[in-house]
Amino acid sequence: MKITVQPSSSIINKTGPWRANRPNFLHDKCTACGICSRICPEGIIYQTDKTNAAGKKYFACDLTYCKGCGLCAIECPFKAIEMELEEK
Ligand code: SF4
Ligand code: SF4
Repeated sequence: MKITVQPSSSIINKTGPWRANRPNFLHDKCTACGICSRICPEGIIYQTDKTNAAGKKYFACDLTYCKGCGLCAIECPFKAIEMELEEK
């Protein structure tokens, strides 16, 4: 069953300028399970064409529209996403 939703308003409204935290995707830890892309309320996490050391096509996000909510980091079962302070 697919639960992916359509991208929300942040696809129209860029969030980068006011974001306090940003996700850092640790590509070598990514197992390509896809949970982060299904949980992101903005629908901006996607699978790249690049592979990590384990041969997995790792996931990343479009920071232009990321609001820094941290849900992806909380839900990643492999601790492959860390939230860090946004540098202004
Ligand atoms: S939830 Fe974590 S391990 Fe799964 S695709 Fe996303 S970053 Fe990779
Ligand atoms: S921090 Fe929130 S908005 Fe940004 S990629 Fe993660 S789940 Fe999506």
